[in-house]
Amino acid sequence: RSVAAIPTEVPAPRRVQNRQLPAPAAPTDRFENTPDTDPALAPNREWAAGIRARMASSTLGVDTLAARRIGTATELDETIAGAVSAAAAWRDLGSDGRAAILHRAGDVLEARRAELLEVMGAEAGKVIEQGDPEVSEAIDFAHYYAESARALAGVDGAAFEPVDLTVVTPPWNFPVAIPAGSTLAALAAGSAVILKPASQSARCGAVLAEALWEAGVPREVLRLVTLADRALGAQLVADERVGRVILTGGYETAELFRSFRRDLPLLAETSGKNAIIVTPSADLDLAAKDVAYSAFGHAGQKCSAASLVILVGTAGTSERFRRQLLDAVSGYEVGAPWEGPSRIGPLIGPAEGKLLRALTALEPGQSWLLEPERLDEAGAMWRPGIRDGVRPGSEFHLTEYFGPVLGIMTAATLDEAIDLVNAIEYGLTSGLHSLDEAEVARWLERIEAGNAYVNRGTTGAIVQRQPFGGWKRSAVGAGTKAGGPSYLFGLGTWRDAPVTA
Ligand code: GLU
Repeated sequence: RSVAAIPTEVPAPRRVQNRQLPAPAAPTDRFENTPDTDPALAPNREWAAGIRARMASSTLGVDTLAARRIGTATELDETIAGAVSAAAAWRDLGSDGRAAILHRAGDVLEARRAELLEVMGAEAGKVIEQGDPEVSEAIDFAHYYAESARALAGVDGAAFEPVDLTVVTPPWNFPVAIPAGSTLAALAAGSAVILKPASQSARCGAVLAEALWEAGVPREVLRLVTLADRALGAQLVADERVGRVILTGGYETAELFRSFRRDLPLLAETSGKNAIIVTPSADLDLAAKDVAYSAFGHAGQKCSAASLVILVGTAGTSERFRRQLLDAVSGYEVGAPWEGPSRIGPLIGPAEGKLLRALTALEPGQSWLLEPERLDEAGAMWRPGIRDGVRPGSEFHLTEYFGPVLGIMTAATLDEAIDLVNAIEYGLTSGLHSLDEAEVARWLERIEAGNAYVNRGTTGAIVQRQPFGGWKRSAVGAGTKAGGPSYLFGLGTWRDAPVTA
């Protein structure tokens, strides 16, 4: 993706936000979001084809030297001690010194965009269409937190004291942006970091860490580890020298982490079961497109994915909406990321347990609007499914599946639809499609969700504009929002300016 190959008269891609809530105060007007690669331009399509050609045989990140494989309790202890002792020099570098390195990290990540896309496709099954915005987000985190940390240091007289050591345990579904965001925030705040990538996406973690080291983050300050067994994971989380744990993963994982240590200083973004409400006033064509993308982008493997669409009143009986939804979904190509410009790649592993059930069995009263289809022997590649007639209180209404299956519910009124959403124990993202201002106001007043989106999909939060994080069981611990002004506060202690007489 050579930016130089983009003719200058072509404007940078513009994202349409329709965000109804006021944007948080910018930490600085120096921050700008990084544009994604525009696939409409021929040179960018060629660039992407080149990446796909390399994906199938990619060995990026295989170099085991990048990560320290920890096999014993003593090795883990040494790694923790080493990181803690490196923290002082990193903190003393000051926010300007750290910001310079972090800005450079953003530039290195941009220069390595093609490599990151290659390893994300090869290792985690991420198609380029999904991976490209993820790289942009990682770059945004670098520049955003660099500037946020400077703003934090600039408050007169008051002092921010970061924790010495932050442990970062990201998931595999955003194998670059999530570890990047958590790591960069901690580094910006002045903390040393032990990054333990998800085992399914360890190579992505390695390429990311190499980029940050190349930018000048000392290897002693950012340590990339893999752990030989779960007992070492428990030891790491429980160690009292660990000042913060940043977890993105399931609610149960957060609970497990808390069982390892009482008063665990945790910042966790956890599960979601997200819905988009569509009212009769909505632009139904746009709603169908947004629902399809939110439900099936990255095969539904996002905390932010829409798993339910709730049709209100006459929208609920609308044949037109269902037809538009089917049209939108049938245009989605399913295939391995290197096979072509597919929209849906494979699941991270074979569908099993509750997800397999959701892809194969209906509950009472339900019917398939679109029956899912298994495309491979292993059961990891699926054409998506849509079930109609999901009833309040049913398993599908309340369960997070993390896969390519969407349920349709109906409600007589907007308030009834909101009740259906608020009955869910999670509250991460939520969507409303409506062109009626009174409906929008009512929904914003009542909806229980961290990220509320009007007339847009529920995925793809944009750094600074839509800080990301949920309510209820979608957040555990400090509950601050990633990519927003409050996040760094969660990584240390704020000491007020001394009061002078
Ligand atoms: N931040 C991502 C989004 O807005 C979701 C992250 C996740 O799935 O954990 O789509």
